Amino acid sequence: MNWLTKVKIFGESIKKVFKKRPTKEDIKNSEWTSCCKGPILKKELEENMWVCNSCNKHHRIGSKERFDIFFGKNAYEILDTPLPTEDPLNWNDTKSYKDRLKEARKKTDQNCGVMIARGNIKGIEIIAGAINFDFIGGSIGAAEGEAIIYGVQKAIDNQSPYVFFPCGGGQRMFESPIALANMTRTTLAINELKKNNLPYIVCFTDPTAGGITASFAMLGDIHFAEPGCMIAFAGKRVIQATVKEELSSDFQTAEFVEKHGFVDKVVHRKDLNDQISLILSILLKKNSEVKSELINETSEIIEPFTKTAS
Ligand SMILES: [Zn+2]
Repeated sequence: MNWLTKVKIFGESIKKVFKKRPTKEDIKNSEWTSCCKGPILKKELEENMWVCNSCNKHHRIGSKERFDIFFGKNAYEILDTPLPTEDPLNWNDTKSYKDRLKEARKKTDQNCGVMIARGNIKGIEIIAGAINFDFIGGSIGAAEGEAIIYGVQKAIDNQSPYVFFPCGGGQRMFESPIALANMTRTTLAINELKKNNLPYIVCFTDPTAGGITASFAMLGDIHFAEPGCMIAFAGKRVIQATVKEELSSDFQTAEFVEKHGFVDKVVHRKDLNDQISLILSILLKKNSEVKSELINETSEIIEPFTKTAS
């Protein structure tokens, strides 16, 4: 008999002990995660807005964590967004779409991948939206499209600016044409916001790609991005295989996209609140609340908008 089956560790055979791998649930419930220097306590990262002090990696965060950082811990109201009919195509592959939705809801404590909140920063009422990447890769289906449009409607009703933090891989294949239709619907909604002369600020977070980049996320008056985040339409390997050229290592990073004009400014997570409220103060002509040195610092960013306005 194999000796491995005989030797016991804590009452279990060596084979059994080594076979045990952490489940997704174990990883989620663990106090630890990993970054450049190996294991790091989640609590330590959380205290630093989920940004690593050593390598400046901006770790992915959920919608609630995003609002906690943007508006202040629990200093906002989450708005109930409409929930359309689920699983309209009755989709099944390795598992059913209904089961995927159930799992995503359990994992994120959200009804859909987009959360809309109302809050106040420096005297400015803001309607904000954020996508949670943990909800089926941040993909957009009918419910997510409805939530984005609901946020636009709220912003118009309140005459408030709309701030959006996108991420995700694009439209959700389990809802195929219905998901694709939401590229057009969200684009039309953003146009309504613009007809009402309300500012629409986008802050890209990691990773934003596909139909999200190709619709509402690229229509901001001002585009911010978190350092190092991926912003793309098609993936790097697909493009490389098409153009048959070696692409630079920073291709599709926020810094690369900024250099090529699709992002106005890459901003550290801790400064986003200040920068966004500053831009909004200027756009809403609340200049008295704005520090002059910050206006100079951001004049390059607002120039395109003021040109359009004049
Ligand atoms: Zn790190």
